[in-house]
Amino acid sequence: MIDLEIDKIDNEIKQEQIALDKRISALAEKEASIAETQEKITQLQKDRRTLEDEMGDKIAHVRERQSKMMQVQTGREQTALLKEIEDAKKNAKENEDKILEIMAEIEKLIAQVEEEKALLKGEKELVAEETEKVRDIIESINKGKKTKGTKRQKQIKEIQENLLRKYDTLRERRKGLAVVNVVQGVCQGCFMNIPPQQYNMLLKGDKIFECPTCQRIIYHQPEEVTEQV
Ligand SMILES: [Zn+2]
Repeated sequence: MIDLEIDKIDNEIKQEQIALDKRISALAEKEASIAETQEKITQLQKDRRTLEDEMGDKIAHVRERQSKMMQVQTGREQTALLKEIEDAKKNAKENEDKILEIMAEIEKLIAQVEEEKALLKGEKELVAEETEKVRDIIESINKGKKTKGTKRQKQIKEIQENLLRKYDTLRERRKGLAVVNVVQGVCQGCFMNIPPQQYNMLLKGDKIFECPTCQRIIYHQPEEVTEQV
């Protein structure tokens, strides 16, 4: 009985730890996801700088073309130059739109990371509390286990002492033969039958019995298997 209780306690400890481990690994996953988003933000900021440099070049190009406008003479040259300027402006505008898009995305991701970080912080605190609680539970469970263990030791000692006392008494009364074999349900001390139910339990071998007739301690030793010819 006590062994079963101790097993149950061990199982309880295991369950608590499994539940806690699950929460801790969920935290690690969230941390990894935040790191991933932050990496994305860094990449977007790099993209944005590249686009800004490109836009600077394009604006410089527009200015250069505009100043050239003063020098051209023919209408055809003017038309070509104007088209070039318009194209460059359009190009720069597209660049600017992309930059704005990226900035909006960065802003969104930063807000997301902030929110996730706040949530993670709260959860970490909860898990820390939970860890503390589980530690307390395990400690008290272990204390209970220790008490049970001591009780078990005591029981074993009592059983052994009882058995020894009985053995000594039997040896005195039964001319030295205190422990006897049982062969096919018959006690080899007094040669009386052991009741079938008790004999079956004896065969299972998980308990100590005594012969109901002579009170000797009985055991069952399987007969040697002889080879069949
Ligand atoms: Zn007997």
